[in-house]
Amino acid sequence: LPYQPDSKRYESMKYRRCGRSGLDLPLISLGLWHNFGHGDDFKNGRSILRTAFDLGITHFDLANNYGPPYGAAEENFGRIFQKDFKALRDELIISSKAGWDMWPGPYGNFGSKKYLVASLDQSLKRMGLDYVDIFYHHRPDPETPLEETMAALDLIVRQGKALYVGISQYSAEDTAKASQLLKEMGTPCLIHQPRYSMMDRWVEDGLLDVLESEGIGAIAFSPLEQGVLTNKYLKGFPEDSRAVKDGRYLQTEKLTPELLRKVEQLNELAKKRGQSLAQMAIAWLLKDKRITSVLVGVSKPSQIIDNVNSLKVLDFSSEELGKIEQLIKS
Ligand code: NDP
Repeated sequence: LPYQPDSKRYESMKYRRCGRSGLDLPLISLGLWHNFGHGDDFKNGRSILRTAFDLGITHFDLANNYGPPYGAAEENFGRIFQKDFKALRDELIISSKAGWDMWPGPYGNFGSKKYLVASLDQSLKRMGLDYVDIFYHHRPDPETPLEETMAALDLIVRQGKALYVGISQYSAEDTAKASQLLKEMGTPCLIHQPRYSMMDRWVEDGLLDVLESEGIGAIAFSPLEQGVLTNKYLKGFPEDSRAVKDGRYLQTEKLTPELLRKVEQLNELAKKRGQSLAQMAIAWLLKDKRITSVLVGVSKPSQIIDNVNSLKVLDFSSEELGKIEQLIKS
């Protein structure tokens, strides 16, 4: 059946301005790092994207190497886009990235202009798009002058292949330098995509301050620590969980009894707030207005519904915040 998006999709989702730009992003965005590879169920992926969009999630995040194999998530997204979202292009913010290994040889990795320009051309072909809304340099490259990488981002915007540019995983110091260079070229940095969760706090040590003063938005990836900050591992290791099914980036050995005890206590605290732990972990990130959006991944449509329901309880008492700090640091 042709996809009819929910006519109420903009009624409950909230949007935040991305830094000092003209662009709003939904408080919750959806990433396609996992669950959109060639080995994954295409129908499930399609249903995840439809469910997300029906909930007002206007932003889908991709990268050249999401799969597996590399490129597969963009290919699958392109197929779904053709079927369901083509007429909705102007309601969508689609991003892609390059910076990690993608193809063999010296031009398929890191931060050269050669790599970034060629990679985005490939991404556009795979997705069947004329342009992406946001194009990111995926990670810092200490061997390439920042001037070259930022000039590549500027060029890509001038070529009309991306509307905005961003950086991911850059330190506070490199972010300040990159921002300066981009401003001079007239293509300000829209957004930074760092890893940020209750359990991974590096951005609080300088990066968020730089983003605020430079007028750059922030979108937090792996906000649920790939599923650790949910109740799913509290009663063993489910067969369909990322740690069991995949194991490339989240290994069962990392889920130690000590870590799970903490998760259990956080889960109890979330229950007292009338939320699931996943919902509390998302709300916790959104309490800082410098966080434009929280970038979740989901393996089923029900999880995106659950995650969007976090918006029902966003406030924290100082007692709750104190308790969370105490649990995390214990
Ligand atoms: P999360 O921390 O949100 O983890 C997602 C996983 O958590 C899901 O696959 C699912 O695991 C589980 N989950 C999600 N919601 C629920 C729920 N309500 N209840 C129970 N379990 C839930 O994020 P990701 O690590 O997937 O990263 C999100 C996105 O961030 C990526 O898709 C990508 O776009 C981006 N990213 C960017 C990086 C960068 O370098 N810039 C690096 C990594 C990610 P399960 O499969 O077990 O059901």
